[in-house]
Amino acid sequence: MRKGKINVQTENIFPIIKKFLYSDHEIFLRELVSNATDATQKLKTLSSIGDFKGDTGDISIEVKLDAKAKTLTIRDKGIGMTVEEVEKYINEIAFSSAEEWIDKAKAAGEKNGIIGHFGLGFYSSFMVAKKVEIHTLSWKEGAQAVKWECEGNPEFEISDVEKTERGTDIILHIADDSLEFLEESRILSLLNKYCKFLPFEIIFGTETDYKTEKDEKGEDKEVKTEKPRIINNTRPAWTQKPADLSEEDYKSFYRELYPMTFEEPLFNIHLNVDYPFTLTGILYFPKVKQNFEVQRDKIQLYSNQVFVTDSVEGIVPDFLTLLHGVLDSPDIPLNVSRSFLQSDGNVKKISGHITKKVADKLEELFKNNREDFEKKWDDIKIFIQYGMISDEKFKERAQKFCLLKNVDGKFFTFEEYNAHIKNNQTDTDKKLIHIYTTNKEEQHSFIQAAKERGYDVLLMETPIDSHFINMLESTLENVSFVRVDADVVEKLIKKEDELPSKLTDEQKEKLKGLVEKQLEGKSFQVSFENMSESDQPMIITQPEFMRRMKDMSAMGGGMGYMGNMPDSYNLVVNANHPIVNKVLDQSEEDAQGKLISQLIDLAMLSKNLLKGEKLTTFIKRSVDLI
Ligand code: ADP
Repeated sequence: MRKGKINVQTENIFPIIKKFLYSDHEIFLRELVSNATDATQKLKTLSSIGDFKGDTGDISIEVKLDAKAKTLTIRDKGIGMTVEEVEKYINEIAFSSAEEWIDKAKAAGEKNGIIGHFGLGFYSSFMVAKKVEIHTLSWKEGAQAVKWECEGNPEFEISDVEKTERGTDIILHIADDSLEFLEESRILSLLNKYCKFLPFEIIFGTETDYKTEKDEKGEDKEVKTEKPRIINNTRPAWTQKPADLSEEDYKSFYRELYPMTFEEPLFNIHLNVDYPFTLTGILYFPKVKQNFEVQRDKIQLYSNQVFVTDSVEGIVPDFLTLLHGVLDSPDIPLNVSRSFLQSDGNVKKISGHITKKVADKLEELFKNNREDFEKKWDDIKIFIQYGMISDEKFKERAQKFCLLKNVDGKFFTFEEYNAHIKNNQTDTDKKLIHIYTTNKEEQHSFIQAAKERGYDVLLMETPIDSHFINMLESTLENVSFVRVDADVVEKLIKKEDELPSKLTDEQKEKLKGLVEKQLEGKSFQVSFENMSESDQPMIITQPEFMRRMKDMSAMGGGMGYMGNMPDSYNLVVNANHPIVNKVLDQSEEDAQGKLISQLIDLAMLSKNLLKGEKLTTFIKRSVDLI
């Protein structure tokens, strides 16, 4: 036996390790299982290049919980360590990397979320253990098994030990303030979180699952009694070749990732890059909920199948954080702050590549099966629109497959729509006017009027649409958008052919006064329009600009909150409508007033503005008039 002292340069590392990031103590298990995985992987590599001869045998990793003895053991059958290697890797390298970690963690401060996501390594075991033992036997022929022990202070002991099985046991004697890690459910949930997709079988057991037997040399050997409880899927879908996977495989992997989600994903994108960085993964387009509540942070980030984090902000372009799925890349630096991540060249490339892949896949879906693409449109439009608004590169690509849908449920690409409305909806300035509705029901009478004119009306019913429209106006040339009730139908699209007026300017002036009198404090702007006789006598419109700004501010973005601004309305009087002409013929003032009020109320009714007392008054007056 040999006693030694870890070379402590600055201060005692153990209390710092223990106290540092309280909430992240649980990561010790990820670190130890990762080390076990690495050691097993190395053995497999040695075997494949012929350095290790013979059969590697059972190479599962065991996690054994002994609540009675208050220990947690992580056992691998990997390469193990010789005494020299323990000296080097545990006493020197592991120790100095732990020291480095603490420096970084201190520099980053606790506010930084990602600091807990990268490895403190072997020494993280001292966050939860008062004493740690390593029993290890190297794969090398004739190696002597060694035991390393340390009680959370700079002193350690190394001695020879009897161990006949190749590999390493890490035995944690759980500290009194960390007894939660002796609970079976806690360990199982940690294994499920961090180790669900590790490449080697992880077997979990408690003391009752094991018994001691004599091995061939007559030494005591621990063997499992029960059927092993394997807790992971060693070949998750993203590690397999797309050609080997069916639709159903992708769907069932989705269920494996999100056991609590019952909706099926719409489609998936399998990523597989090995140059200039390594990245694999599967992204799913989820079905969006009716209320457009999309959950972020559903993408899980792995590094060589070890779970790292489910907060991928900064790594994946913002609009893609709405997707679900997994990304696995050993090339994403995890030991740096988020602000650094965003400026890191590799991360930028990864992010750009993911965007490109997503655009490619969408284009392929559109080209190969447009019918199906249209069916899914309502669910995917939010991703595409948000992507086009927030990402220049994506916008460029998406112009080929982004669709516009009209009130009759017909779909058009930008190009197709252009051709569709060009003849009838080009105004005198050669601008192509896109007419849209934000609510088919509420704006029904306006839609009807536009259709009668032969205009096409687009459906723009979601909160993001106002931003999307703004983006399109600045992207597409000579295109502008007006909501169907932004003006009377004659004026929606500026054209030369204006009808003559049946009222003189004098008559208009007189009528204007009468109408304003009946408006009683409603802040409507009154104006006259020479429409056709078959149009409505009075129409309430809502000018495009202010209304759209208000819609955009309600959704958030740029111009501050304008929700408190009053809506501005125009009351347009059809100078050519027979009833309007009749109003001036009325000699009795009372009857004249009633008629005007009735016309105003009808206009308000078709704009959904007539409510409460006003509605009651209108109904009474209508009965009287009948
Ligand atoms: P890292 O894993 O980041 O290198 P660690 O502190 O976790 O840092 O481990 C330091 C070194 O100790 C490892 O690189 C490895 O050489 C050795 N080691 C740790 N755990 C094992 C194990 N289970 N089997 C073999 N070697 C191990």
